[in-house]
Amino acid sequence: MATTLQITPRLWQLKLGVVNSFLLETEDGLFLIDTGYPNSADKLFAAVRETGHDPAHIRHLLLTHCHIDHAGSAAEVHRRTGARTYAHTLDATLISQGIGERPNTAVAPGLIPALVYKFFIKNGGTSYEPLPIDQTLHHGELLPLAGGIEIIHTPGHSAGHIALLLRQEGVLVAADLCSHVLGLGYSTVNEDIAVARQSILRAADYPFEQAVFGHGNPLLKQANQQLRTKFSGTQA
Ligand SMILES: [Zn+2]
Ligand SMILES: [Zn+2]
Repeated sequence: MATTLQITPRLWQLKLGVVNSFLLETEDGLFLIDTGYPNSADKLFAAVRETGHDPAHIRHLLLTHCHIDHAGSAAEVHRRTGARTYAHTLDATLISQGIGERPNTAVAPGLIPALVYKFFIKNGGTSYEPLPIDQTLHHGELLPLAGGIEIIHTPGHSAGHIALLLRQEGVLVAADLCSHVLGLGYSTVNEDIAVARQSILRAADYPFEQAVFGHGNPLLKQANQQLRTKFSGTQA
């Protein structure tokens, strides 16, 4: 099974088991978004090579939020690459302590979230090797790379969760804003699912054609409209 999926000429999804990372080509080297669970660095670097790139060229490492399935291998990736590290200011505090979950995190309603939690999340632990964050991010900030990477603060799943609008690619890196495993749905766990819903609807107001997720498959067409349609009717 291929472990990579090219989304646009400059963006790849790297599949690390149940979670995805993303690789963006920029004028200042490679920009890596999320790192998978602890001990994923070898798999991640193999996936980067599969895209035709050299992992040594990873210059930027952004974490969309503090959870262990996204930040678990961040310290190891940083050790191997020396990349500049980024996260939203609220989750940067936890990542720099290796804390992967806030106490108020709860499983979403429904059978599938209950099963996913039981088999994939519950026993995985929540602490990982801490990583100091070089640059803390805020809502509305624009990173001047690859035609502009706009930071959209999207709390609910995690207080410091961010989605990224890749302006030139017309892609939203939604991360765990919601998931797209068996259709669009809420992320399996959330700190506040009502706030998550508001974040999804706010993000859907941005201009993008495609969206990619931390869990599941990309939405390839009219993604913002699909998010709006799916979540505007559902009460969390
Ligand atoms: Zn998460
Ligand atoms: Zn996740």
